[in-house]
Amino acid sequence: MNEPFFKIDSLYRLPWNLADNGITWLEPTSQCNLNCYGCYRKNVKNSHKPLDEVKRELDFFQANRKTDCISIAGGDPLLYPNIVELVADIKSRGLKPIINTNGIALTPELLHRLKEAGVFGFTFHIDSQQGKGRDPKWAGKNEVELNELRLYYAEMLAKEGGISCSFNSTVYENTIQYVPELVEWAQKHIDIVQTMVFIIFRYVTPKLPYRFFAGDQEVFKEEIHYHSDKDEKTNIMAPDVVMKIREKYPDFQPAAFLNGTSRPDYYKWLLTERFGNKDHIFGYAGRRFMEIVMNGYHFKHDRYLSYASPKTASIGKSALFGLAPFDKGARKALSNYWKYLGGNPFRIFKKVYNQTIMIIQPVDFLENGDQSMCDGCPDITYWKDENGNERLVWSCRLEELMQYGEFLHTVPAKSQEISAEEAVNIMEGTK
Ligand code: SF4
Repeated sequence: MNEPFFKIDSLYRLPWNLADNGITWLEPTSQCNLNCYGCYRKNVKNSHKPLDEVKRELDFFQANRKTDCISIAGGDPLLYPNIVELVADIKSRGLKPIINTNGIALTPELLHRLKEAGVFGFTFHIDSQQGKGRDPKWAGKNEVELNELRLYYAEMLAKEGGISCSFNSTVYENTIQYVPELVEWAQKHIDIVQTMVFIIFRYVTPKLPYRFFAGDQEVFKEEIHYHSDKDEKTNIMAPDVVMKIREKYPDFQPAAFLNGTSRPDYYKWLLTERFGNKDHIFGYAGRRFMEIVMNGYHFKHDRYLSYASPKTASIGKSALFGLAPFDKGARKALSNYWKYLGGNPFRIFKKVYNQTIMIIQPVDFLENGDQSMCDGCPDITYWKDENGNERLVWSCRLEELMQYGEFLHTVPAKSQEISAEEAVNIMEGTK
């Protein structure tokens, strides 16, 4: 038996589930102004949904799922003509509107209008595999060189003030080497960057040893939207990213996780909360810290916390003092903080910040053909089938529903001779 990477009692299992979650995912459009290599969504021009339809999706969410924030995604939501009204509508429902964007369409003027409408935060997706669409000066830049672009957006948000700032980037075999430097860059800007998210690349590739079926109909890999003809590595795991970060931050220690639907020892969402300032990282929150924060927030607001505001993230000192008696990680960080003050007591006037580093490991194909998803998926979205039935579905696999009306099943391709009938038997467990 393989030992899990983390001892089960060293991490807090985030309490998120289908009906009660920190996040819910909304897609008002599938149109985008980039063509990112690892994107799960087909870029469809003029695919903006009428605002009333989007509001009905929000009604459905609110009737079926407690949520703290609505991640407005797509496509690029800044291309959605009614984005300002949509943000205002979400805010009026008492939810936090978060815009997930590549940033291209964001101007200081639009940002100001979105702030007035009640936007809570932005998550900018910036990485080196995003294809054409940005200013050509960014073409061919690696992840570290793109920090200049990240800083441009972080400073734009900071200037407007009071808006949470996060960055996403996809982690590929040839870009995992840059992750530690991105984490270091985030520390350098800990006063204006609240969250860094690393999403590990997953795609259907030629050597993936599975066959895909929609019902009893075989679907060839090349037909699946998120397939690549390149033989990419698609099994980088969250602990690989942790090990990489530890090359620069040896104490780097996640506090909470979501497991896989078929594998409790897979860390699908791995959340790390660190305390520090630009000079120094004092330490990492432990599982009790996360448990107290999640449950305290739920007790007060009847839903689980997702994003923290820049103001909350800047009171790391209070969080350290307040929670150190209950949490080993916070205690250790506090002891490092005292040592830091010992070097120069005037440092007490410097702020201490919280910063979140998240690693996301999307779908894993298991040997028996199971697809292990994130258990308690936060990025759940809305789907209405051809009979008008509405349900909550994984946003990363929405394209399958659009293309085939159902999620694809995978069957291990042990033998290329397997018939469609045999595949169905395997899927139904009759063989
Ligand atoms: S299951 Fe898919 S949509 Fe849900 S959180 Fe995981 S990667 Fe995101």
